[in-house]
Amino acid sequence: MLNITELNTSASDFWAKLQELLAWESVSDDAVFNTVNGILKDVRKRGDAAVVEYTNRFDRMSVASMAELEIPAARLQEALTKITPEQRSALEQAAARLKSYAQHQIMESWDYTEADGTLLGQQVTALDRVGLYVPGGKAAYPSSVLMNAVPAKVAGVPELIMVVPTPDGEVNELVLAAAAISNVDRVFAIGGAQAVAALAYGTATVPQVDKVVGPGNIYVATAKRMVYGTVGIDMIAGPSEILVICDGKTNPDWIAMDLFSQAEHDEDAQSILVCPDAAFIEQVKASIARLVEEMPRKAIISTSLQNRGVLIHVQDMAEAVKVANYIAPEHLELSVENPREMAKQIRHAGAIFMGRYTAEAVGDYCAGPNHVLPTSRTARFSSPLGVYDFQKRSSLIDCSAEGASALGKIASVLARGEGLVAHARSAEYRIKD
Ligand code: NAD
Repeated sequence: MLNITELNTSASDFWAKLQELLAWESVSDDAVFNTVNGILKDVRKRGDAAVVEYTNRFDRMSVASMAELEIPAARLQEALTKITPEQRSALEQAAARLKSYAQHQIMESWDYTEADGTLLGQQVTALDRVGLYVPGGKAAYPSSVLMNAVPAKVAGVPELIMVVPTPDGEVNELVLAAAAISNVDRVFAIGGAQAVAALAYGTATVPQVDKVVGPGNIYVATAKRMVYGTVGIDMIAGPSEILVICDGKTNPDWIAMDLFSQAEHDEDAQSILVCPDAAFIEQVKASIARLVEEMPRKAIISTSLQNRGVLIHVQDMAEAVKVANYIAPEHLELSVENPREMAKQIRHAGAIFMGRYTAEAVGDYCAGPNHVLPTSRTARFSSPLGVYDFQKRSSLIDCSAEGASALGKIASVLARGEGLVAHARSAEYRIKD
């Protein structure tokens, strides 16, 4: 039987223990920070030559120039013929569903006109060029290509530059096919901090982008945090998390497998069950013990559950909601009788999966919403990746002569109060007698 932490909300030290289990600080690891800082400075100074060197070192390659690391458009198209028709259809269906969902997120420009003819509004434009980081160190993630590229294209971004590491020079056909399906413009076989640096600063070969999006390991996350300001970023993603609220009436095998579906990502992933029924928690433990034996990634799942897994016994469902809102999980499953009612009480979660039939895994691939979600309690203040991340807003002001006069009087008083005479006079010129 795995040794998974069990907590009971009635214990006096419950919240303190929970806080300890939620802590995730590795992204500020000093050694990683220093390594990444060195790589960023070097790429900024030496451009392509530095990117080639780091790629050869970290991804065990032996290329002589950056040109060899660009994957041509024809090669992306070729990948579509190398995958099975079933895989191609699955990618196309997932992309189509993501696209229809994303279309609901488009921010529109708006304006209104005041009585004196002054127009005020907001003009929405897409970013010019975006860099998509697709992880590829230990596993390939074709779904991440779609999740990043589809909303960007729906937003109207004209140019998408994708980077993906290819350890030992091995390209993943599904990743390339996903890039072809989602109309990525250029792809470079580079990864880690050196790829983030190339996108943020630009090199002779890699064009400088305006924003870098996409998940990655700690080197990628640290690099993104450090280039923020030079470019935009989507978020700093920590390890994946799931929190399942169950009323004790779902098949315990389903719940165990849902917990595994995050635990199998990596040893630091976090899976949490919150339930008011102690006997059901015991049933889930039995399911975990039996089913983990069948898992190809048994070692990762076991380590993840023992390191960071938690089974929380709550007194009632109201307390379950309170715990979930505190944790603000990336993925929240409501495996309960009336999930839509419960969802109304949820204030912080990356994505909410409602009902016993909604496995979090469908959201990872094809339901429609994005799988790039806020982790590590950041759902308290941030949202899933979406079309709005690839759009920005400009304010619009168009004063009529009457409007300029009325506003000029107010501006003049405030400007003189601040001691900014040029501001005041500029507004006063336009005041009518
Ligand atoms: P990765 O592409 O993020 O990182 C690989 C790169 O890390 C290498 O190319 C190398 O440049 C760099 N690197 C590795 N060791 C280094 C070292 N010692 N010094 C400097 N650089 C080094 O691929 P990965 O490692 O497989 O990590 C992918 C991560 O992305 C996982 O944590 C996974 O869970 C996460 N992920 C998240 C989502 C999501 O939506 N949240 C989706 C897919 C993947």
